[in-house]
Amino acid sequence: MTREKGHRSIPYADAVLPILRGRIPGQLIIQYTDVCNALCPQCSMRKTEAYERSKLSRDEVCRIIDAAAEQKIQALSFTGGEPFLFLDELIELIQYASFKKIPFIRTGTNGYLFSNWRRQEYVYEIHNLAEKLARTNLRNLWISIDSADPRTHEQMRGLPGVIRGIEIALPIFHEYGIYPAANLGINRNIGGMGLISEKMIKPDEFYREFKEAFERFYGFIIDMGFTMANVCYPMSIAEEHSASDDAAVNGGDTGGGLVSGVASAVNLVYGAASASNLVSFTDAEKVQIFRALMDTIPKFREEIRIFTPLVSLYSLIRQYSGYSDDSLPCRGGIDFFYVDAKEGNTYPCGYRGKENLGKFYNLDIKNLKEKRACRDCDWECFRDPSEQVGYLIEAVRNPVKLIRYKTSEYRRLWNQDLLYFHRCSYFDGRKAR
Ligand code: SF4
Ligand code: SF4
Repeated sequence: MTREKGHRSIPYADAVLPILRGRIPGQLIIQYTDVCNALCPQCSMRKTEAYERSKLSRDEVCRIIDAAAEQKIQALSFTGGEPFLFLDELIELIQYASFKKIPFIRTGTNGYLFSNWRRQEYVYEIHNLAEKLARTNLRNLWISIDSADPRTHEQMRGLPGVIRGIEIALPIFHEYGIYPAANLGINRNIGGMGLISEKMIKPDEFYREFKEAFERFYGFIIDMGFTMANVCYPMSIAEEHSASDDAAVNGGDTGGGLVSGVASAVNLVYGAASASNLVSFTDAEKVQIFRALMDTIPKFREEIRIFTPLVSLYSLIRQYSGYSDDSLPCRGGIDFFYVDAKEGNTYPCGYRGKENLGKFYNLDIKNLKEKRACRDCDWECFRDPSEQVGYLIEAVRNPVKLIRYKTSEYRRLWNQDLLYFHRCSYFDGRKAR
């Protein structure tokens, strides 16, 4: 039995009119909790880290959802920590956001529930879970996968058996019309054939290692049964914004990126941070990683829906090669916002922790005064849509300037992505394709 829900479309007025006014349809990421049960070395929220954990109350989240609906937020994500640790309440909240007609509702998991696959009740429990989720308007569900090698992934997460459990669960989810996405946070273990060089020696070799690793990774998740994939870029914060800040790191499987390098010197309210070389990359290394990813994706785009826009990778390569103005500034703090689990406060994103905007329900996001063009990190949740829809805004407002300003390669990739996204039903996780 395949039950695909109809595509939840954005009301025309809420999607197109903001673009004509120079705005991007709004996005809100709610860090529902920073409690986690995994051991990921790339994240400071792993269960072995000793600090006081938090979860937002149901009433508080409902209040935020009310305000989000009122302010025409189009995309709402529940992230962690591990949100599935509070599954019943999470489903209620997703249901509530569905009731409030927020069109793009997303959440994700480290997959711990799937490591129980040897239990007799496992298949029954997954049917039960899929059925509950299918009753909501959840649009996208992501499951973290760190490596093409099951043992490496399971060791990194501290979740033995999870890969087999996901393989069993995926067809069950598909029966209920839920098509989860594999979510990869870029790290040196992706390929699963030993750690990729800890420091880049020769750019070409480094590029080749990552390209092979990405190829193995996509092949692996296709074989597992995934029909969609996303990649979290390695994160770094521009130094001028990081020098005197304290670390307050927490983060998770958000469909969000991994903070690397200068993480301990920045004031983060959200971010999977670690000093580990596993997720730390220099700018020169990032150029090779983005090149490798950009050259790998087209090979797999017909076999699996891949969110990652080529135009974003192209812009990031340009940015890290010294042409930073070639990438469009992020809409964090303008159209996109983040609420933390600790205090329930709003920030422009999870990485500008000095800019506490207070409670989301007290904000008038249309009339916020402080807006800055930011390219301080590569958080794909914010950077990818900023690049794609941002280009549309520029095109509407100043087409002549744009033709001069953007390279023909940029325009070619932007068009190519748009056609691909359209063919993929804009990554509707309630559709098989
Ligand atoms: S990356 Fe996610 S699953 Fe891993 S420790 Fe962090 S919050 Fe937990
Ligand atoms: S680029 Fe976006 S996500 Fe990154 S620090 Fe700036 S506003 Fe935040």
